[in-house]
Amino acid sequence: MKCPVCKKEWPTSMQVARHILGTGDKPHREWVDGQGLSFFDLLVEQALSPGNKSYQILSEVIEKVQAEIR
Ligand SMILES: [Zn+2]
Repeated sequence: MKCPVCKKEWPTSMQVARHILGTGDKPHREWVDGQGLSFFDLLVEQALSPGNKSYQILSEVIEKVQAEIR
């Protein structure tokens, strides 16, 4: 699975999701917001709620866009 922003690769989309939320620089934030999500809301959700809901939401989007990453 590749990061759609910086093209780094991880074995699972969940790890890419963690990378994107963990990196949080402008290009990664803008990509998330561009997917109709809110980077800020996902970050808050992940910080305040138990479980991996934000990572799961993000990992689904990451899987969908894999074919578009060049
Ligand atoms: Zn990245």
